Amino acid sequence: MRWELDWLDSRARLTPDAAAIAAAGTDQEWSYREVNERARAIAAWLQGKGVKKGDRIALLAPNGVSYFDLLFACGKIGAIFVPLNWRLSVEELAFIIQDSEPALLAFHSKFTKEVTMVWDQAGECIQIDGSQYQDLIAGPKQIQLVEKLDEEDPLAMIYTGGTTGKPKGAVLSHRAIIWNSISTIASWNLTGADKTITYLPLFHTGGLNALSIPILMAGGTVVLADDFIPEKAIEFLIRHKCTIVLFVPTMHHMLVKSEKFQQAEFMDMKLFLSGGAPCPLDIYEAYKQKGLAFKEGYGLTEAGPNNFFIDPSDADIKRGSVGKPMLFTSIKVIRDDGSDAPAGEIGELAIRGKHAFSYYWKNDSATENTWKDGSLHTGDLARQDEEGYFYIVGRKKEMIITGGENVYPLEIEHWLSSHPSIREAAVIGVVDEKWGEAVTAFIVLETEAALNGEKIKEYCRKKLAGFKVPKQIHFITQMPKTHVGKIDKKQLKEMASEKQK
Ligand code: ATP
Repeated sequence: MRWELDWLDSRARLTPDAAAIAAAGTDQEWSYREVNERARAIAAWLQGKGVKKGDRIALLAPNGVSYFDLLFACGKIGAIFVPLNWRLSVEELAFIIQDSEPALLAFHSKFTKEVTMVWDQAGECIQIDGSQYQDLIAGPKQIQLVEKLDEEDPLAMIYTGGTTGKPKGAVLSHRAIIWNSISTIASWNLTGADKTITYLPLFHTGGLNALSIPILMAGGTVVLADDFIPEKAIEFLIRHKCTIVLFVPTMHHMLVKSEKFQQAEFMDMKLFLSGGAPCPLDIYEAYKQKGLAFKEGYGLTEAGPNNFFIDPSDADIKRGSVGKPMLFTSIKVIRDDGSDAPAGEIGELAIRGKHAFSYYWKNDSATENTWKDGSLHTGDLARQDEEGYFYIVGRKKEMIITGGENVYPLEIEHWLSSHPSIREAAVIGVVDEKWGEAVTAFIVLETEAALNGEKIKEYCRKKLAGFKVPKQIHFITQMPKTHVGKIDKKQLKEMASEKQK
C-alpha cells in the first residue's frame, strides 16, 4: 500500500498560519507553514550531503524546534531520526553512536565538549544554534522524490531509557508514529484548539510521541520548555493557555506541593496527565481538591506510547487505573502460557496495534523476546477489574519472591506514600539467605518528620499481609531518579548491596 506519509505537508496546507510550535515564556511562535518550510530546507540540504533512505540522522540538543526540523526532514527523505539523550554519560552516548552509526550529527553548542569526545572529527556534523544552520533553513527547498517510501519504513529510532539494562534502539516506523497520533486524537478527543507544554525531553517518547506529535497532527500548538521549575511551569501553563499536559509523577508532586498551585487558576486546562511511572494516589486528591481533571496513562517507547483511555471522572472513582484500551489497540493481560488471565488475576500486559514498534536495532534476540505470537510483550504486570479497567501492577522484573510468595512493590509503595510523613517510597527485593529475597524499602521523609523503621513497619501491618511488610527500611534524603524522573531501582539495588557489606 502506498501512503501519503508527509502529513506535515498536508497540515501546512490546511492550517498554514496556525501556531504549531511556541517557545515557553516568550512570544516566539512557528506556524505550520514555517515548520514545514524549515523541514523541507533541511531535507534538501541532507539530500545534498548524500543522505539516503535508511540513513540515520542524530540530534544532541535541549528541547527546541530543531527536534521537529530534523524529525520531519527525515520523514520527507526516508532517513531515520535518532534523538540522543543528553543526560547520558559520554560512554553511553558513544555506545549509542557506535550502535546507530549516524550519517550526520546535529548538535547544540551546549554539548560541544561531548561531541568532540564521541564524534569522529571527519564525520559530518552541524551546530543547530549557529549561522550555518540559519542559512540552510533559509536555503533551497527542492527535495528529490524518494522512490518506494512505505509506511513500514523507519522514521525514528528512540533508545529506551535503560532503566533495566543497556539502551536498545526501538525502531518506529512512519506507520507506528502516525497511528499513535490517530488513535490518541480520536480516543482523547484532541483538536486544533489544543495546546500542550512539553517539559518532558523530546529525545524520549514521553516528550515526542505522547502529546507533541498528536497535537501537531490535530493542528494544535506545542509549547516547548526545559528545566522543570514548578512556579514557572504554572506561569507558562496559564500564559500559553494550555489545555492538556503530560508530566511524570515527580513533576506532579513538585507542582501540587508548590504554594503557587493553591492560588493558580487554570482557566483553559482540560486535563492533567501522568505517565511514565506509577503515580502516587495523593496526586489524584490534590487535583480533585482544586476541581481539576487528572488521569494516569501508561505507555512505553515500543508501543505508542499511548495505549489507554479513561474519562477523568472515572479516573477519580477508579484511582490507580489507566482505563481501557484506546481505539485501534488490542491489549490483554496474559498468563505465562500465553492464555488470557481472567479479571482480577495479575499477568503480563501484551499489546497489539499499528502504533507498535518494528524491532530493536541490531538486536534480534531482544526483538524475539518482545514480539511473541504477534503481540508485544511489555514486561509489565497488570490486572483488569470486572468492568474491564486496567491497573498497572509493576515491572515483571521487579516482582519480589519472598518465602515463596509473590510481592508487587507498587502495592507497598502506594501504602507507604499514603503516610503523611513520607514524601517518597520505593520498594525492591534484596537477595536474602532466608527469604530468597527480602522486601526492602527506601524512604524519603517529609522535612522535620520524625518516623523510625519500627513505626513504618507498624503502619504497614495495618494494611498489608505480614510477608509484604518491609524487612529492611533505609532512610535517604533524595530518591535516585533516571533522566526522565523515574525512580532508579538499579541504583537502589546497588545502594542496598553496599549497605549489606
Ligand atoms: P528500559 O525499557 O530500557 O528499561 P524504560 O522502561 O524506562 O527503559 P520507557 O519506554 O521510557 O523505558 O518506559 C516504559 C515503562 O515505564 C513501562 O514499560 C512501564 O514499566 C513504565 N510505566 C509507564 N507508565 C506507567 C504507569 N502509568 N504506571 C506504572 N509504570 C509505568
